[in-house]
Amino acid sequence: MPIEMHPTRWGDPARASALPEATRGLVELVFPVIDRTVGDDEAVAIPTSRLPDEVVAELYGIVGARHVLTDDASRRLRTRGKSTPDLLRARAGDLSDAPDAVVRPGSHDEVQALLGVAARHRVAVVPFGGGTSVVGGLVARRDGYAGVICLDLLRMDRLLDVDPVSMTATLEPGVRGPQAEALLAEHGLTLGHFPQSFEHASIGGFAATRSSGQSSAGYGRFDAMVVGLVVATPAGTVRLGHAPASAAGPDLRQVFLGSEGAYGVITAVAVRVRALPGERRYEGWHWPSFDAGVEAMRTLAQSQLLPSVLRLSDENETALDLAHPDSIGSAGDGPSGGCLMIVGHEGTAATVSARRTAVSAVLAGLGGTSVGEEPGRRWAAGRFDAPYLRDSMLDLGVLVETLETAAHWSRLRSTYDVVSAALKASLGEPAMVLCHVSHVYETGASLYFTVAAPEGDDPLGRWTAAKRAATQAIVGVDATITHHHAVGTDHRPWLEDEIGALGVEVLRAVKHAVDPQGILNPGVLVP
Ligand SMILES: Cc1cc2nc3c(=O)[nH]c(=O)nc-3n(C[C@H](O)[C@H](O)[C@H](O)COP(=O)(O)OP(=O)(O)OC[C@H]3O[C@@H](n4cnc5c(N)ncnc54)[C@H](O)[C@@H]3O)c2cc1C
Repeated sequence: MPIEMHPTRWGDPARASALPEATRGLVELVFPVIDRTVGDDEAVAIPTSRLPDEVVAELYGIVGARHVLTDDASRRLRTRGKSTPDLLRARAGDLSDAPDAVVRPGSHDEVQALLGVAARHRVAVVPFGGGTSVVGGLVARRDGYAGVICLDLLRMDRLLDVDPVSMTATLEPGVRGPQAEALLAEHGLTLGHFPQSFEHASIGGFAATRSSGQSSAGYGRFDAMVVGLVVATPAGTVRLGHAPASAAGPDLRQVFLGSEGAYGVITAVAVRVRALPGERRYEGWHWPSFDAGVEAMRTLAQSQLLPSVLRLSDENETALDLAHPDSIGSAGDGPSGGCLMIVGHEGTAATVSARRTAVSAVLAGLGGTSVGEEPGRRWAAGRFDAPYLRDSMLDLGVLVETLETAAHWSRLRSTYDVVSAALKASLGEPAMVLCHVSHVYETGASLYFTVAAPEGDDPLGRWTAAKRAATQAIVGVDATITHHHAVGTDHRPWLEDEIGALGVEVLRAVKHAVDPQGILNPGVLVP
């Protein structure tokens, strides 16, 4: 069974830890430290479940009473997602968005039947995968609805099919990242999708948010891996993806990828898989500046010579080495100053060797300096740990949050500059703004910002203002409001800036066709 995450913290409670002494010392040097540790939240009140009895009885009839949970603990564990605002609200004792019931279907047909009940009684339905949304994607509007159901897909966790000839596999939506890799590994296969939330997020969630993982340079974004989908909607079932490619009109898979539970419940995902790599080599390259490293990334992307993992930290992030709190403040690897790039190769020994030789020649030719495998090994070992660091910082009264965007190469630097400036201006001294590039394309790349600032009297208000300023800056330079976190409720006010008024009308028209009563995740995605 996957670990159920505490509403005020990330991940596995057994892995939570206080900051190492050296890091704490550094934090105390920069920020005013206050004790903001939160205790057991059992005492925090959540609203009483208000689902009408007749609805509960009908839900029992579909999934059985033991899969309809209305107790406080079950509802508390599925309140909102895991953005810093979500954690701050829970830490402040605000669990007002708790669902009225958690329903756990075991099959597509049960999902379809549940949607029928919800539509008849006008109950809002929030599909719930791993609960790692960072954009308010799990907070449905309540007014005008008889209640809110969290449709927890954790029981739908099977590998349904493997086609080793076509190299595809079909997974149910509740399969978590590690479980997907374990199931595929039994067949000598891998999906290659490793977002930082990998340990908790689900296949359905990856599809519903158009997620992108740390190995996207080699394996592609999640939406590029999807070959087929089955979606239960209140208007019926949609089955898509019968051939490797098709010219049968617009690609409707793209309508449901990124639909964030607002168009239907994804009940099966067919994905392209690859052979499990026999060899993995991650190594570090040092660049004299962020610009020099970015230029090298562009060259690789435009030469179609990408490694499996390619990420570049800016000067600030390199100096802090966020993945390794143990070594924050120490000298680190290689030359001081400048920027660290992680370059990872995966495949057979022969392909790793050939690609590594070719990539290294390009990087060395552009002024990069190899700093060996140790930084790569350390990055790989700590790649899923940073969210635990956020909790430790929140415990010290330091606000930590991230945001991301993407821009064409010709505008990447200006996007970096305006977003950094907006965050710094909004948060003031002594805020820190760090950035890395971790998803590259022939035409551009993503920028992922991390901020740390004193939480002040109103941490939520402080972050909301900073996020608004950064998003306005992003819109101002025509970059995207989100490269891989999705829209949710947080980015919805700016969706029209990105896709235009007619684009919003198209989204509304699709919503009306598949969800005429508007019960699916109301208020999420569609303005
Ligand atoms: C610490 C941290 C690190 C992260 N790192 C990354 C990263 O590296 N890359 C990245 O892309 N994202 C990242 N995210 C964001 C998040 O993990 C992704 O958006 C992920 O894809 C969500 O998956 P989930 O299963 O947790 O979905 P949930 O959070 O449960 O749901 C997300 C949205 O999808 C909908 N949904 C979920 N399942 C279904 C379904 N089966 N059918 C229809 N709708 C559904 C929900 O209603 C909701 O709107 C990170 C988040 C955190 C907290």
